[in-house]
Amino acid sequence: CGVFGIWNNPDPAQLSYYGLHALQHRGQEGAGIVVSDRERLRAVKGEGLVNDVFDEEKLRAVEGTAAIAHVRYATAGGNGIENVQPLLFHSSTGSLSIAHNGNLVNANRLKKHLERQGSIFHSSSDTEVVAHLIKRSTLLPFKEKVKSALNLLIGAYSFLVMTKDEMIVARDPQGLRPLALGKLGEGYVVASETCAFDLIGASYVRDVEPGELLVINDDGIKSERFAVETNRAMCAMEYVYLARPDSDIDGINVHMARKRMGRQLARECAHIEADVVTGVPDSSISAAIGFAEESGLPYELGLIKNRYVGRTFIQPTQELRERGVKMKLSPVVQVVKGKRVVMVDDSIVRGTTSRRIVTMLKEAGAAEVHVVISSPPMSNPCYYGIDTSSSEELIASTKTVEEIRDTIGADSLTFLSPEGMIEATERPFDEQNRGLCLACFTGEYPTQIFADTVLPHEK
Ligand code: 5GP
Ligand code: SF4
Ligand code: MG
Repeated sequence: CGVFGIWNNPDPAQLSYYGLHALQHRGQEGAGIVVSDRERLRAVKGEGLVNDVFDEEKLRAVEGTAAIAHVRYATAGGNGIENVQPLLFHSSTGSLSIAHNGNLVNANRLKKHLERQGSIFHSSSDTEVVAHLIKRSTLLPFKEKVKSALNLLIGAYSFLVMTKDEMIVARDPQGLRPLALGKLGEGYVVASETCAFDLIGASYVRDVEPGELLVINDDGIKSERFAVETNRAMCAMEYVYLARPDSDIDGINVHMARKRMGRQLARECAHIEADVVTGVPDSSISAAIGFAEESGLPYELGLIKNRYVGRTFIQPTQELRERGVKMKLSPVVQVVKGKRVVMVDDSIVRGTTSRRIVTMLKEAGAAEVHVVISSPPMSNPCYYGIDTSSSEELIASTKTVEEIRDTIGADSLTFLSPEGMIEATERPFDEQNRGLCLACFTGEYPTQIFADTVLPHEK
């Protein structure tokens, strides 16, 4: 998912719309904006793409001075408008709105506990649990309620919480999902990725720190910690696949990190003899350019993407996904015919994309297809909000590299090593893994995982 927030601006709905546009790649299932006019909070939301959900009229109907906004990442379950965020709750003590990126691993136990005490829920979202925890707290002022709720949460969260008086911003102690702070005129903006700032002309201030809480109101901005920082573990897949190449995460440009991953990958498969390098648009182009630079092989456009088809991964069924790949990509015969092709992709999850592309390139006359992947084999599920499906669906959880190569029909298959990936991000921190989460590759989760922890798509 993607979150965006803006405080103290005359046009918060319109700017949130632009912000969500820049974050569209982080979620295509639904979008919403909640605007505050300092008296009330009002929501506009719907299922589908940002462009389909909002229009001039709807945005004009919610004037105000602040807003929080959200794009929702598709999951197999938990569809429906009641799960589209930001969630908005009204009560006699004031309205409360929440937007969340990430997935909590103890939401089920918290929910059971609350239900035993009489709470009832109307969505399957873990975010609703957080709203209950905030509301039930007897502490004051409001930020103390939020802090007491945050201290009960385990997992990934970048939160925007808004009342009519303030916006509270928080990031989990591991910093699993990105969140950046910016400035626009006299006001503040917050976004999952810095590309949203560029679009609206805001200037980047800094990333929100893991375990940090920001209170933004008419007195300005105040920072405090709600948690002692534990092990910093920024999602490596943000650098590999999810984030937009023009965004910077913790000061590191995503395109440049991907290029370095491609370069490192080329060093790790120096044994491959080939004629041409091609990438799978759009997410692996940066890595393919890096691979070509390092190997000295020409970079070519071997595959063309139909830009009017959404991300294939996001289709809920396998059948739709298979057709999706075909609709989305076509080979350029003149580039691949008779050639030994290095095909760079960013990741293999189920293996659908790679298998289809190898077939496609061979049908187009490629003499050999060498598949190189700019991340390690993904053999463990992600509980932190990237819906990479359950273990059974992950091809690397049951098959060896050689078996995967055979399944996708490639002449060779090479994955980037975990060490190579860590090195290539060039993150400065001297923490473990340079402050990256690598759990889907290594199985070492940076938080506790419980027996009743559910995957994002199981909700
Ligand atoms: P597969 O086809 O192996 O199941 O998925 C891998 C392909 O899906 C890659 O080309 C990758 O760019 C794309 N993809 C789309 N969404 C995701 C996602 O959420 N995670 C990962 N790892 N890959 C994704
Ligand atoms: Fe990212 Fe993988 Fe960690 Fe999930 S398990 S947060 S996808 S690195
Ligand atoms: Mg891809």
